[in-house]
Amino acid sequence: MAGLTLKNIIKRYGNAEPTLKGINLDIRDGEFLVLVGPSGCGKSTLLRSIAGLESITSGDLYIGDRRVNDVHPKDRDIAMVFQSYALYPHMTIRRNMAFGLEVRKMPKDEIDRLVAEASQMLGLDEYLDKLPKMLSGGQRQRVAMGRAIVRRPKVFLFDEPLSNLDAALRTQMRVEIRRLHKKLKTTIIYVTHDQVEAMTLADRIAVLSGRDKENGTKNAGYLQQVGTPLELFQRPVNKFVAGFIGSPSMNFLDAKIEVRNGKKCVALEGWDAIDLTQECADAVKDGQELCLGIRPQDVILADASHPANMHVKVDVIETLGWECHVHFKYGEHQFLAVIEAQKLADIKEEQEVGLYVAPEVVHLFNHDEHGTAIAHGGGLKGEPKSSNDADPHFTALNEVIASASDEISDAN
Ligand code: ADP
Repeated sequence: MAGLTLKNIIKRYGNAEPTLKGINLDIRDGEFLVLVGPSGCGKSTLLRSIAGLESITSGDLYIGDRRVNDVHPKDRDIAMVFQSYALYPHMTIRRNMAFGLEVRKMPKDEIDRLVAEASQMLGLDEYLDKLPKMLSGGQRQRVAMGRAIVRRPKVFLFDEPLSNLDAALRTQMRVEIRRLHKKLKTTIIYVTHDQVEAMTLADRIAVLSGRDKENGTKNAGYLQQVGTPLELFQRPVNKFVAGFIGSPSMNFLDAKIEVRNGKKCVALEGWDAIDLTQECADAVKDGQELCLGIRPQDVILADASHPANMHVKVDVIETLGWECHVHFKYGEHQFLAVIEAQKLADIKEEQEVGLYVAPEVVHLFNHDEHGTAIAHGGGLKGEPKSSNDADPHFTALNEVIASASDEISDAN
């Protein structure tokens, strides 16, 4: 097992603008770190650079205490699991798992022991003498993981392993991967563009920025924030992270700070205004124009004890079962809320309703190029404060499609 240290990693393909523009990141020994960002932001490039499948243009890469910039992939002691299963179709499951060790001339007894251990861990015992084509997609993924596990690597690298699976299998495999990490306690770096996967799997998430409409690639290829899922969810450092983490995405509204009854508040459409917590009030000044962020789950329908501070019109109600996605019209803006279905029984599309947004769920961002966070309301009391306290939904999942790092050597 080992941690990793990335110091100012820059990766440039040819003469193009660098894909990675100076990545600094410490990954702890035994940590499950998820690297997330929009498609094309350089996640795979970073993972492949760690594996040694890409050379880095500059910077230093350490696995444990060893600088590995010039170390061959097969000597880096890592195992990589790719999007495709990459199993040998003519070999049994047992041999698929054993093959990489045979190539390394490991004694047969030792290979048998490692394969038996991995197979037991992954629930593959009854399939060991079958061929890959006789297994389901999920089972094949487990075999691919088994090939990585038998190598006993210091670090596992997963590159979008669940992308080819249907939604149900993704959920199941997420749980399995998380469970596997609990057992193995080996450092995992896991790349995905899917923020739900990132939230459910990670001890910590590292968010990488991609190109955007206004600035093209100017702000792409930088690490924006590294933290636990809930740190990123509750205290995003900028609008990019705020909008990327959390589903559905955070609502953003242009707003202005005003003082009413001697207290600072965020003024919105009409006479609507949301009070501020002390932390937010201390960070802003009267008349300041800014961007207000509100998560769809943080909005409630106003009632006697929660007087309306936003007056909206129902546009479209999407029923998902227990909850509904309610799209409101708010002046010229669209505004989304996630509301319990039973609370919407008397509410129809086109109806005007009052919403209540608590000061604690407010997020304030600057209008600057990066949409830098100014302050956060701090969350409602009773909300989990760390990923360890999170509800079971956050505690795990998984899948994987593994292919052992002998594939890495093969590729080289
Ligand atoms: P992600 O995994 O986040 O989707 P990638 O790391 O695959 O993104 O790619 C990031 C960017 O790096 C791409 O948009 C592309 O411009 C560039 N890139 C990736 N691989 C190569 C390559 N082999 N040659 C040239 N450019 C590349």
